[in-house]
Amino acid sequence: MLVLFDIDGTLLRTEGAGVRAMLATFRELHGDLGFSLDGIQMAGGLDKLIWEAMCLRHGLATSDDAHAKFRAAYGDRLRADLTAMQTRAMPGAAALVHAAHDCGAGVGLLTGNYEHTAYIKVERAGIPAKCFPFGAYGDQGASRRDLPPLAIARAVAHHGRPFDPSQTVIIGDTPLDVDCAKANGCIALGVATGPVPRETLLESGADLAVDTLADTPSLLAWMQGVTRRR
Ligand SMILES: [Mg+2]
Repeated sequence: MLVLFDIDGTLLRTEGAGVRAMLATFRELHGDLGFSLDGIQMAGGLDKLIWEAMCLRHGLATSDDAHAKFRAAYGDRLRADLTAMQTRAMPGAAALVHAAHDCGAGVGLLTGNYEHTAYIKVERAGIPAKCFPFGAYGDQGASRRDLPPLAIARAVAHHGRPFDPSQTVIIGDTPLDVDCAKANGCIALGVATGPVPRETLLESGADLAVDTLADTPSLLAWMQGVTRRR
């Protein structure tokens, strides 16, 4: 079994500190152009696409060079500004990560965050970065649907054994997490610790949706059952 965790709204919440760091980075690089993320798809979105949408809105360059500068400056800003106090691990999230490791599952990240900011966030939430030896990140695909095959290939490379999409559980808090799982033949576990109610996650096609990840034994048993019988 392979278990891929989303970050924001799933493993942790930064209560707006992540968004504030992103806005501060735009101001640092371009001056105060009245930057706002209103109307830009944040939850479940990919950081590179969020950056592009903001640049287009304000007539800024979207070259690779401009992106590399933003990516680096945002990482520095988040590292400096995001405190452990602002970063709240969601109930049961860390326990489920550890339990999945203990039962021999592959465990990785599947997130809209950049790789470096992903690990800043999980560490500030008190979950060791080494819990996620691989992942797929927010500047590595044109949409979230591109990320599961990358994460699975990296799991295969890391563990030296095959993982099938049908043995892969993607845990996330938005319909976009569910969609990227189902579009790739993976199993979708929705969790309502982000902005989206449990019912909406079920309606979007989640195989299971829960209010929180707090019930480690039942979630682990469900994941083992649903990946074994396929
Ligand atoms: Mg999320």
